[in-house]
Amino acid sequence: MDAGGPDGGPPASWHGHRHTGARRTGTAGEHHVSTPAPELRADCGNCFGLCCVALAFTRSADFARDKKAGEPCGHLGGDHRCGIHATLRDEGYSGCTVYDCFGAGQQLSQVTFAGQDWRDAPDRGQAMFAGLPVMRQLHELLWYLGGTLALHAAAEVHPAAEAARERVAGLTRLGAADLLALDVAAERAAVNEVLLRASALARTQAVRRPRNRRGADLIGARMKGADLRAADLRGAYLIGADLRDADLRLADLIGADLRDADLRGADLTGALFVTRTQLNAARGDVRTRIPAGLDRPAHWARRPGPDTAKAPR
Ligand code: SF4
Repeated sequence: MDAGGPDGGPPASWHGHRHTGARRTGTAGEHHVSTPAPELRADCGNCFGLCCVALAFTRSADFARDKKAGEPCGHLGGDHRCGIHATLRDEGYSGCTVYDCFGAGQQLSQVTFAGQDWRDAPDRGQAMFAGLPVMRQLHELLWYLGGTLALHAAAEVHPAAEAARERVAGLTRLGAADLLALDVAAERAAVNEVLLRASALARTQAVRRPRNRRGADLIGARMKGADLRAADLRGAYLIGADLRDADLRLADLIGADLRDADLRGADLTGALFVTRTQLNAARGDVRTRIPAGLDRPAHWARRPGPDTAKAPR
């Protein structure tokens, strides 16, 4: 359901890290061929529409109808493409435009299951659908580690980040049974240690005492024009928050809930660990400055929204 689900189009260009082949690391005389990391962007043309089957959704503002996990969406065609891709938001499926599998769908379809379609074997389908959230979490970790490796200010953490990236990339190549048995929480916890160190290094070099709003309940908060440079907003609840023209440069936004947050005119240059899902779920405009490696959501241009903030809490 990333950017509208299995649209069948070619993968869009990505300006961030692309790990498409073996990379050499280390110094001269210490050559080490690293594990190729998978693509971290959905390639729906190489996926069997897994997110459109595996995931459940509930009739709401984001989905026009209920769907159980494991049940193919009624709009999913026999070619694994979405029949309403071009009009998802107009037809009440904005949730499909927010979801991002980080490329887990094609990894499962083409690598784990070697290009075998779930439609040909019910048992295989169950394993594929169960594997999607696991693979997605691994790819998400790779996304964060890629961001860490791009942070010059966190150079002292790079060896640990590279080692973690190697490990997680290797896990994405596990067979189906091993993948389903994986302790993903433990893998997340190990990676999180690296991310925390990188974040602290980068943010405290930029701002002496950055604001700490980690996990804060900021639902609907009025923060127009706020100075949130290098702030710790990990896991913060920013649903519907008014962040117009806010300065979020180098803020750590990992896990922050930005659903319907108003980012018009906000500056997220260098903001840490931002994902496509977060941007897709927020509101923004042509003035919003987004971190490198991310694309401006298409709906920002066509849905500027009223110039009003949600009520403060
Ligand atoms: S509407 Fe259905 S087929 Fe289309 S992207 Fe959403 S879940 Fe997939």
